[in-house]
Amino acid sequence: MKNVLFIEPTIRPIGVDYLSNKFSTFYASNGKEKTLIKMINENEIHALITRTETITANLIRSCPSLEVIGQHGVGVNNIDVSVATEEGVCVINVPDANFVSVAEHTMMSILALSKNLVRNHKEVKKNNWDFRDQVLPSEIADKNLFIIGFGNIGRRVAKLANAFNMKVFIYDPYITAGGDEVTVVDSLIAGLKIADYTTLHLPLMKSTEKMISEEEFNHMKEESYLINVSRGQIVDQKALLYTLQQNKIAGVQLDVLDKEPPDPNDPIFKLENVIFTPHIAGDTKEAKDRCSKILSEEVAIVLGGKVSKNIVNKEVFTTSKILGRGKNELRRHYDSVSNTINESK
Ligand code: NAD
Repeated sequence: MKNVLFIEPTIRPIGVDYLSNKFSTFYASNGKEKTLIKMINENEIHALITRTETITANLIRSCPSLEVIGQHGVGVNNIDVSVATEEGVCVINVPDANFVSVAEHTMMSILALSKNLVRNHKEVKKNNWDFRDQVLPSEIADKNLFIIGFGNIGRRVAKLANAFNMKVFIYDPYITAGGDEVTVVDSLIAGLKIADYTTLHLPLMKSTEKMISEEEFNHMKEESYLINVSRGQIVDQKALLYTLQQNKIAGVQLDVLDKEPPDPNDPIFKLENVIFTPHIAGDTKEAKDRCSKILSEEVAIVLGGKVSKNIVNKEVFTTSKILGRGKNELRRHYDSVSNTINESK
């Protein structure tokens, strides 16, 4: 019997129930490294289900029973994937469960910023009806939307924005051709220069950390807006603070911050031209249920000695010390389907 460890608060009941029906399940009260190492080793855990917890190289190396880490969502930057690969631990994510939710959140942000939704709401409650003449909202039709990262979420945002008659421009190093309704720009700066709205839909990696910093802000239009529903660290938050304090751009919607949860004394909270949400763009009821269901099914596939299509680190089968971790069954299955896997890389 294989053992699965959930970390409280964990995934939705639909996923917990699925795994509990097939495996022995355990619960860690928190995601601290020390707690997890203890729980995993004491209970010979084979699968760890994660959400936002940091899974370090030390944890992976200290837990020889671990075979799979199942990440609830697409971003795996909280997990040391390269050490997991070295150590023969499969990392599974769920890339396509919440892109509709994140894209809808992006459109909500574009509209809320343009219509001054939060400020209007506050002023009406303060009995300041005259606010209606003080800051005028704007239309989004015919405005330039610049999408950085044209994967699942970026594409869906483009589709929704097209329905609002926005002009859509994209930047993604892996995409060279646009289409009738999307124009590919030559460079990041070229896109920032023309954008009325810039929205980030790329992963956090070493190469994308602080990708939007002082220089990039300097190229943005004063009346333009930024939306970050990707990862906080992609934006240099100090540079963003300065940019907003100097009114060098009109405003920003931040679903993600460089530190989560943030320091309540962070000066960014004093600004009027920022709308915050607590990293919930992808967390609708529908998306969470979908994500929990897919994740639990894929984790069960790996624990059953089969190869999941959602394995992030497919190199685990070729470069790791996998045989030393007793995954011969998984390796045999990999060998039998390796052509398919290689084609889908
Ligand atoms: P995806 O893998 O489908 O698409 C990412 C795209 O980014 C790819 O097309 C890739 O080519 C592109 N890219 C990579 N490096 C780039 C660069 N330097 N410049 C521009 N583009 C680059 O992923 P997705 O499902 O669209 O998700 C994107 C990101 O959104 C995730 O990595 C995650 O961090 C974030 N996300 C946030 C939430 C939330 O709740 N706020 C929810 C889901 C995802």
